[in-house]
Amino acid sequence: VSLLLADALLPSGSRVDVRIEDERIASIVPAGEASAADGERIELDGALLIPALVDGHVHLDKTLVGVPWVDRDASGSVAERIRNEKSMLRAARVPVAERAERLAHQLANHGTGHIRTHVDIDPEVGLHGLNALVEVRERCRDLLDIEIVAFPQSGIVTLPGVPDLLDAALREGAAVVGGLDPQGLDGDASAHLDVVFGLAERHGVAVDIHLHDQGEQGTAQLREIARRTRALGLEGRVGVAHAFALGTVGPEDFAATARALADARVSIMTSAPPGLMPPVMRLRDDGVTVYAASDNIRDSWSPYGAGDVLERATTVAYQAGFTTDAELQVAYEMVTTAAAEAIGVAEYGIAPGLPANLTVVDARSVAEAVAAHPPRVLVLHVGRIVMARRWRAAEPA
Ligand SMILES: [Zn+2]
Repeated sequence: VSLLLADALLPSGSRVDVRIEDERIASIVPAGEASAADGERIELDGALLIPALVDGHVHLDKTLVGVPWVDRDASGSVAERIRNEKSMLRAARVPVAERAERLAHQLANHGTGHIRTHVDIDPEVGLHGLNALVEVRERCRDLLDIEIVAFPQSGIVTLPGVPDLLDAALREGAAVVGGLDPQGLDGDASAHLDVVFGLAERHGVAVDIHLHDQGEQGTAQLREIARRTRALGLEGRVGVAHAFALGTVGPEDFAATARALADARVSIMTSAPPGLMPPVMRLRDDGVTVYAASDNIRDSWSPYGAGDVLERATTVAYQAGFTTDAELQVAYEMVTTAAAEAIGVAEYGIAPGLPANLTVVDARSVAEAVAAHPPRVLVLHVGRIVMARRWRAAEPA
């Protein structure tokens, strides 16, 4: 299979012809210089070509995509919302594999090529959700790559049997071990993190912890996570989601915590919740990898979202008050290169030899793509066309 993407605009600003042979990028030459060869040719007319988007934190098993609209009156504590979610999913009556697969298609059609999805692991659901997502991962392998996190949504320490279930999940298809509010929800940060990091060590897997705890209770846990990361040599393989605490403490606590995270190469994910997004630029300046992701998409936790992580980059930029092209570029990196680095996507980017995981956006610059999250016009996954549509004609010269 040979495919020529003619006159593509790279994020760097150069206009190029990109030839794809089989699954990989074969060559990149200045626009107009590619030789005519057999195979398909797609004229991009200067549209923006980016590496496949990365949505490094979603919950495929929770989504109600494809289910008629559900009234949401959820409020109250996290524990109450967890109970509320269970009754909502039971009432939906659509099997988890079906809901998850529908969302995976939506993500792929928006140009996302790599996702990391959490899946609830608790005594009630057991490995049911995990098994469903392993099936979906296989069925969607031509659309996008799916990495699964075994996520103890209802706690670890306070519930009997969860460590064994997480252990089983890691043997049966999960590639990452999760955690959740070790102190705030589970009431015992040490015991919780003993289990999480113990499993990471035993299975040689990455760690991805949800942390909503705010204030100094939250930053103390972040520093403890960083300490354990270094102790086990897991630098670069541990991430924390939300980390609201970083936006709620004084400058000294922030600086000490950011330094610990940077030294341990612990990454931070934000879904840009109003008022709770960590200070993105300060963290980056301190050397911390920060990325953005969709998190909950139309489920009991959030009514929002259509599975477009580029739209999430828009939200990040908006919340952060970004207005210059350089700032919008940061938001772009948070759903591409930084996210790829954080979740460990091998072979990421646009260069000869790399897998052709590519997305074309109807935009004339990275800044425009973030500001407006315009429609995707072409999506390729390992050289195969996932989605293609007509878009506006080239602007007159
Ligand atoms: Zn989450």
